[in-house]
Amino acid sequence: MSDSNQTMTPEEVLEKYRVEREKRLRADGTAQYRELTDDWAEFDRDPFVEPGFTRDPVIEDTDVVIIGAGIGGLTTAVRLAQNGVTDMRILDRAGDFGGTWYWNRYPGCMCDVEAYVYIPMLEETGFMPSEKYSKAPEIFRQCQLLGEKYDLYSKALFQTESHEAHWDDEARRWIVKTDRGDELRARYIVVAGGILHKAKLPRIPGIETFKGHAFHAARWNYAVTGGGPTELPTKLGDKKVAVVGTGATAVQIVPTIAPITEQVYVVQRTPSAVGVRNNCQTDPDWFFNQEPGWQQERMWNFTAMTSGLPLDEDMVGDAWTEVYRGEMANGGVDKTKLPDDQRLLADVEIMNRWRSRIEDIVEDKDTAEALKPWYDMWCKRPCFHDDYLPAFNRDNVKLLDTDGQGIEAVTPTGIVVQGKEYPVDIIVFATGFETGTMYKSRMHFELYGRDGKSLSEDWAEGTQAHTLHGLLSRGFPNAFLYSGAQGGFATSIVHSLQDHAEHVGEVVSALKERQATLIEPTPEAEEEWWNWIMTGFQYGYDQMKECTPSWLNGEGNRDPSRMKLSIYLGPLKHYSDKLREWRANGMPGVEIS
Ligand code: NAP
Repeated sequence: MSDSNQTMTPEEVLEKYRVEREKRLRADGTAQYRELTDDWAEFDRDPFVEPGFTRDPVIEDTDVVIIGAGIGGLTTAVRLAQNGVTDMRILDRAGDFGGTWYWNRYPGCMCDVEAYVYIPMLEETGFMPSEKYSKAPEIFRQCQLLGEKYDLYSKALFQTESHEAHWDDEARRWIVKTDRGDELRARYIVVAGGILHKAKLPRIPGIETFKGHAFHAARWNYAVTGGGPTELPTKLGDKKVAVVGTGATAVQIVPTIAPITEQVYVVQRTPSAVGVRNNCQTDPDWFFNQEPGWQQERMWNFTAMTSGLPLDEDMVGDAWTEVYRGEMANGGVDKTKLPDDQRLLADVEIMNRWRSRIEDIVEDKDTAEALKPWYDMWCKRPCFHDDYLPAFNRDNVKLLDTDGQGIEAVTPTGIVVQGKEYPVDIIVFATGFETGTMYKSRMHFELYGRDGKSLSEDWAEGTQAHTLHGLLSRGFPNAFLYSGAQGGFATSIVHSLQDHAEHVGEVVSALKERQATLIEPTPEAEEEWWNWIMTGFQYGYDQMKECTPSWLNGEGNRDPSRMKLSIYLGPLKHYSDKLREWRANGMPGVEIS
């Protein structure tokens, strides 16, 4: 292994982190991105449905309306059904279940968290992922299987948008109207819109003048590239393609299209840290002979491991858990208890190894140097891929590094990077998703609670967010919000969503059993909850504050006044135990009638 990084002292490395961060800080923060509405709406069009779909409006009373048919909404519907609550409607603007896995169908799309942990409810359907790390179509298929098994297609309203729900205090119901003329009057509402849901574009001058094809990675245009989600593009052999962005999405696209594209330009603002993948086929003998309950056990093992909780066994044993395994082997350092400077130094060693990996793989020295990430391990989401770095050894793949400044402009025929124009036929924007904002912006959805007050107004755009468990909020009875704010979170986000789903399934069925029609947290319970959130807060908050800009820290300009929109930054296990205990104790701190 190369070791040129090792010649720098840890202090020099930290100084380099600071310098690289400074380069990337921008006054416009998250405002550097534009919404895909109005003139930009074409970038957000669903390319996976036939145009012209119509149906009759649905006017009905129901027990539960779920906004969002992604993994959060879907697993909630399953848990409700398993608890005997089957009178429900599930709404989504997409044409099927799946959420992230409905929209993201770009070439090479896969999940870099182990499939046996990530893909929800494998034991419920008996579905065996073919590899340790699944390609997107398998995850999408499992979502469909869950929909089929629990008769959820009959309850789904797809290609349907709803932008608001109003609380009717007298009837104790949420009223949800949609763009297809539906009117649903529901006892409970679950808002599960996803946190990486709304595709965004940087405000690069000239995009609108481009005469070739440009699209966002989460709306891959197979009509232009040929191929489809389960087959490689067929029309790129004579095309020059620019991939803008080098996050987890681009890391999967670039090596997949490189062998079938005339020329790939990879436009980089900040390099990702790319660790080893080591994918392999699933052994059916092992898979089908596990004890019932194996998936929950494995999920909890992974989540506990990647929350830094001490464990005897690492069941997943991959590059995600390696980071923590190393620390355990070194005496079980609990990073959350280390002062800032020592914690950063603990991660420098790992990042040095990852940087050396680049030198070992990428032959061109300048390219290798430009691909090195200079920030703390957890400042950006780490990526894992075995073909991304080798792709830069191909003659037809060129890294266009922007030294932290981003792509300069788009012209009618190409892109401009560091003053030089590169002609291209296709631009793929792998530029991520809006995060950290209120529902209204992120989901185009607003709740109007008691007295018609909107959630945005009540939460004062996040500065006064108040919840119990990150799910219930006073003034918005019978609403369960999967907003991320003040809720539990895990490395595998699907684990935290399933935890929410289990909770809502049990709470709603318990309320039905009691013949209750209303649940609403008390102000005292919400305050107590926030105080508890703060116990797991400072470490994560401090860690992100000094990080290189990314979607994880508001592009480096994290607004302290919106701290209350933060997730619970401690281990999911602690959060989940709290919720279980609350249910077992008869749901204290809420008014139920
Ligand atoms: P992302 O991580 O937000 O990356 C966006 C990329 O676009 C970054 O490299 C960013 O650079 C770059 N960018 C933004 N504006 C630019 C500009 N003006 N010029 C040049 N580059 C620009 O988005 P993503 O890759 O779609 O991933 C989003 C999240 O989805 C991930 O963090 C992960 O949580 C999830 N994901 C998961 C998987 C999986 O396997 N489980 C796969 C894909 C995605 P900067 O870094 O400088 O901002």
